[in-house]
This record gives sequence, structure tokens and C-alpha cells, in this order.
Amino acid sequence: MSSITAELLIDLSKIKKNICSLKSLIGKDSNFMAIVKSDAYGHDLKKLIVRIDDIVDAYGVVRLDEAVSLRRHTQKQILLMQGIYDDLEWNIVKDNSINFVVHDPIQFKFLERRYSGQKFWIKVNTGMNRLGISLDDLKKVLKKTHLQNDDVLMTHLACADIPDDELNLLQFANFEKAFSQLNCPIQRSILNTNGIINFPQHAYDWVRGGIGMYGGVHHPDLETAMTFRSQIISIRDIQPGDRVGYGGRQQAKTKMKIANVYVGYADGVPQNSIDGTKVLVNDQYAPIFGRVSMDLISVDISKIDNCKVGDWVVLWGDNISINKFAETNSLISYELMTKISPRVKKIFVEL
Ligand SMILES: *Cc1c(COP(=O)(O)O)cnc(C)c1O
Repeated sequence: MSSITAELLIDLSKIKKNICSLKSLIGKDSNFMAIVKSDAYGHDLKKLIVRIDDIVDAYGVVRLDEAVSLRRHTQKQILLMQGIYDDLEWNIVKDNSINFVVHDPIQFKFLERRYSGQKFWIKVNTGMNRLGISLDDLKKVLKKTHLQNDDVLMTHLACADIPDDELNLLQFANFEKAFSQLNCPIQRSILNTNGIINFPQHAYDWVRGGIGMYGGVHHPDLETAMTFRSQIISIRDIQPGDRVGYGGRQQAKTKMKIANVYVGYADGVPQNSIDGTKVLVNDQYAPIFGRVSMDLISVDISKIDNCKVGDWVVLWGDNISINKFAETNSLISYELMTKISPRVKKIFVEL
């Protein structure tokens, strides 16, 4: 064993497969926008683009600098989802042929300045009450610009992962209202990943797939592309009554064997991970035992055979779902993926 460090293994071929699976859920007439915000949900935007550019129709990001750096690697449509706010940003999107979302009346002034080849994405609030123009203000869009056939009316679902929630029906109905109010044949886009899975009949012209590409939702055809792992750096036998870690949060009831693994909250393990959260040690499940430290976690390996210093411990990856880790700790896979810290070594693998 040389220098021990936590590793993030990334299998880009799995992301490619996941995109194909998501596309197979919707009709051939729908275009697939790959959402690659936050460095492709922690998977490395630049490395990913070259692998998927031939199978996606466009990219979505939220930061202007991400959009600009993306432009150096693709000719496809790039959508800046937070939109723009001032002339400096306007010049940058124009020079780099970046399309942007208009989601607030404060951005209406840019509707009068369409650059050649630009498509507008008009985001309407249908019930999530986060971003989006109200149905009342939507009429004002038409006063500012003549909408074109490849402009897009979009909205975002609040409860796409809860198909029975009545808010979904309200949002679909309001979206239809907004579309008929505009009364022009522009394109439409509603669905994120969970929308694609639960409401494929509402795919329209564009779907916007994010977390599903990376395998961060439960679905039989989607695989998690990242494996987060580190090595055991010390093993200790403890006696009944011994307490472990900060605050002595856990106490041994019997004789136990504890492995200390070189990965902590400074690498991206949530600090409030609860005792009993399962990790994988030599292909066997073992529970976290005691509070997560900055650089270490303690794992109960009393029931694991032949454990030794240097053995790998997988927090999430194949055979140990990131979704399970998230659920156990009342978190979401999005947060786990995007909070892996830069000090973790990224390794690109084809498994
Ligand atoms: C992030 C984002 C998406 C992707 O959502 P997933 O749940 O990751 O598929 C789609 N649309 C918008 C506007 C987003 O911000």
C-alpha cells in the first residue's frame, strides 16, 4: 500500500448507457437535453462531454462560466438555466452562442435583443413557486418579441418523484393554460429525470435529464456511475463498555472489531451520517459505528472475515446503492454526488 487516499471511480460508459435507457422511455420526437450543471453532478463535465456528445441534443447548466467552458467542447445547443441579468453577461452569451432561460420579468429586456440563431426558453411558474414567469406576466412576453417555432415554453415539476401528488396535475393543467395563452406553435419542455420515469406522456419536444444519467434514482435500467471508496488504515479490538469516536456516540455492548477508514466529511461523507449506515467491506455489508470525523469513519467489522489494513471500503457504488445511503440519512443522491470534495482523487474507469 502506498499513499492512502479516498478515490472516486467514474465509469463514463455507464452514463452513456443510462442516457440511452432514459431516451428509450420517451418518444423519438422528443429531444434529450443532458443536464450537466455542477460539473456534471460531480462527474467531470469536460471528460463526460466527449463521451456523450453524439447521443444528446443539447446541454443544460446554471453557471455562465460552465456554459462558456462547455462551448469549447461542443457545437450543440447550450442552455443557461439561471438566465442572464446584465449587459456583460449578454455579450458573453452572444459571443458564445449560448441560449438562456427567461424566468423573471426583470429579464424581459433581453427578449428585444435576440441575437442571430438564438432560441429563447421561456420558463413559466405552474405551481412550484420557485422560478418562472406568472401566467399573468406571460402575455407581456409577446409584446417584447415575436416567438419563433424553435423557442421553448418550459416549466419545472415540484413533485415529479411523487407521481400521486395532485400538484403534478395542477402543474400540467397550468402549463397547458400557459401554452394556449401564448397561442403560437413554439416547443414545450416539462420533464426532469423523475418526470421522464413517471410521466413520459408529457415529454413534448424536450426532456431535461440530470440525476438519471448518473444513476442517482431507483430504476432497474439505471446504474450508478460513481464509486466512492477508501482504505482501512487501522483496526482495533474493543471491549464491552468502550465508546468510539467524537462524543463517544457509540458504545460497545460486546467485544467488537472496529476498522478506521481514511475518508471523512472533508472528502464528502455527510458529517451527520447515522450509526448503522451500511458500507461495503470486502464485498460484505458493515455498519458505520460512531460519528463521522473530518478524515475518518469507524466501521463495525466484527462480522467481516479476514479484514486487514489496506482493504477497500466502498461507501457507494456497485452493489451498494448511493440511493440507499441517501435514504438512510434523509439525504438525496444529488447532494452526495455534488459534495465529493476536490481532494478526492478522480479515476476514470471502464468497468
Ligand atoms: C437540474 C435541473 C434539471 C434536471 O433535474 P434531474 O432531477 O437531475 O433530472 C432539469 N431542469 C432544470 C430546470 C433543472 O434545474
